Amino acid sequence: MNAPTPCSATTRAGNSCRFSARKETGLCINHDPAYAERQLQNRQRGTRIAAENRARLPIRIDDFDLSNRSSVQALVDAVLRLVIAGEMTEARASQVIRLLSIAVRNFGATHTQIVPHLNIYEYRRNQAITHLVRMLDR
Ligand SMILES: [Zn+2]
Repeated sequence: MNAPTPCSATTRAGNSCRFSARKETGLCINHDPAYAERQLQNRQRGTRIAAENRARLPIRIDDFDLSNRSSVQALVDAVLRLVIAGEMTEARASQVIRLLSIAVRNFGATHTQIVPHLNIYEYRRNQAITHLVRMLDR
């Protein structure tokens, strides 16, 4: 078997790229602009499919925000009201409250917000939801 051809591009540090080249271009996946375009299209397609899957859920899953204490408090409030109204079982409420407790512990003693970089949190949340929606038993 032949050793893979190295990428012909130069890194930002000025060294030769050590990734394997793709046959079509002689460039690796990091340096091939055509590959970046395809990756972008794949990401956009994945985002669109995830949005369609979310739209089919019986609840709006994006509306749950665990990024700060007041939004967690709002969820505790909603769960309490749903249990009192007989719209949520106590077993389900216990599961939700247990998970909300974990969310609150992640804030730490002094922080009201889970992360200083909310956009990173929201990006990760979107990624997690995308993957979890694919795992739903439907
Ligand atoms: Zn490269």
